[in-house]
Amino acid sequence: MVEPKSVILTKIVATVGPACSDEAVLVRLIEEGARVFRINFSHGGFEGFERSLAAVRGAAEASGVHVGVVGDLSGPKLRVGKVCDGGVVLLAGECVEFQRQAVVAGEQGVVAGRAVVFSATDSSFIDDVEPGHRVLLDDGAVRMLVVDKTGEGEGRRLVCSVTVGGRVTSAKGINLPDTDVSVPSLTGYDWRCVDWAVEHGVDFLALSFVRRAEDVRALKGRLSELVGGGSQAIPVIAKIEKPQALDDLEAIVREADALMVARGDLGVEMDLTMVPVIQKQIIAQAHDYGKPVIVATQMLQSMIESPTPSRAEASDVANAIYDGADAVMLSGETAVGQYPVQAVRIMGMIAKTVQRAMAEAVDVQSRPPIRLQESRYRTAALAHGVNVVVRDLGAKLMGVWSQRGGGARYLSQNRPSIPIIAASSDPVVLRRMSLLFAVEPVLMEQPADLGAFADELERLILDKGLAREGDQVVLLAGEPIGTPGVTNTLLIRELDGTAKRGSN
Ligand code: ATP
Ligand code: MG
Ligand code: MG
Repeated sequence: MVEPKSVILTKIVATVGPACSDEAVLVRLIEEGARVFRINFSHGGFEGFERSLAAVRGAAEASGVHVGVVGDLSGPKLRVGKVCDGGVVLLAGECVEFQRQAVVAGEQGVVAGRAVVFSATDSSFIDDVEPGHRVLLDDGAVRMLVVDKTGEGEGRRLVCSVTVGGRVTSAKGINLPDTDVSVPSLTGYDWRCVDWAVEHGVDFLALSFVRRAEDVRALKGRLSELVGGGSQAIPVIAKIEKPQALDDLEAIVREADALMVARGDLGVEMDLTMVPVIQKQIIAQAHDYGKPVIVATQMLQSMIESPTPSRAEASDVANAIYDGADAVMLSGETAVGQYPVQAVRIMGMIAKTVQRAMAEAVDVQSRPPIRLQESRYRTAALAHGVNVVVRDLGAKLMGVWSQRGGGARYLSQNRPSIPIIAASSDPVVLRRMSLLFAVEPVLMEQPADLGAFADELERLILDKGLAREGDQVVLLAGEPIGTPGVTNTLLIRELDGTAKRGSN
């Protein structure tokens, strides 16, 4: 008998960009394990976003997988303006300038002795920075010091000396760690992106540079105005990348629907050596509240140009999973890299290796979301207990009827070592499950009762080759099936193929 198909429990988020926005490439990424696609509103325009979204939806349809789409709101991040095709390479010691007026940097060709002139998405920073301040580009990869400000008013320019060189392309981020800049958390452009996301049925919104819980509340407030609150509202992912956010972390975790450890800006805004420590803190805090958490940025960075990752990168992905990340993310690797498919494949392989190792470690206890335990909520308690039953039985799968996604979330929060087959008749709910650790969303008509659900699930499991006859499956459900809040039953079923035979 063939081995059952193994499922990647950790979710892989892939950023969409020129290297993968073809439907055929996206299909390959899904085959290799990508379950969530990120459209970064910082790069490209609405026409491009629309094409990317249509391509993802098409690829999902073609693959028969319920994938989710994250719209990533830029927030108040300063970025360089346009740069000529291929970018400009800056050398240490070289002088560069920033001016207020839009310009395509490097368009005139790079002339020895003449400074490359950049513009930025918002020129007011030219007034705020002072000589001696650092100007960091591309998550700190390229660094410079302000040496002078010349001119006045509209003619004011900033003269910088490059301390660490590198290639700069259009719209790379600018960080000013020494400068106080007062900016709103959501810009006019962000609000237009929110409208676009709602109109186009995007599944999650990520909010960059969250500083306090209030930022998340502002976005959620607007979303509930647009689409209604409660389970209808688009889930919000708070990107943690500002030192201020750490002071208000618990409140942010409570407010947000999911978290992202956005290490790119975090590593520039704070001491780089703190990033691994903060990563663990954010993951632990998110777990306490049962919120999914994504670890992002530079996970397989060298695969932008190389078909294999460094050992350190492989360890980084593995350690994020050991830390308890629900999802790991690829940015430039899939957006602009030369090996997008390989990057997802390697990530999936690492995840599978780690999940096997974790399942075999007998001392690994599932850690329930302790803040939720305080609520004495029935489904949460049952979901916690399921893990013990699964381990003692050696069960191969869990199943849950999860019309609105709650049951799937509770099971996922306990970080099981086997997949959770979560069924709903609502495709929107299924796409929102795409971020949940170990959850495999499946579309199903609402069954008449628990028995019918178990039969239908058994058929589906055997058809998809997820387990085989003789395997035990643990189901979580309640009756009448489909009524929210009735989950109170844990059912053990041995797959015997009768349901399948019965249907044929
Ligand atoms: P963020 O801070 O939101 O992560 P970023 O600039 O780091 O922004 P990523 O989405 O992490 O952007 O992608 C990494 C790099 O890939 C970007 O800096 C950009 O050069 C490139 N990129 C990403 N998406 C696109 C796109 N749609 N079109 C062109 N280039 C893109
Ligand atoms: Mg990034
Ligand atoms: Mg960022």
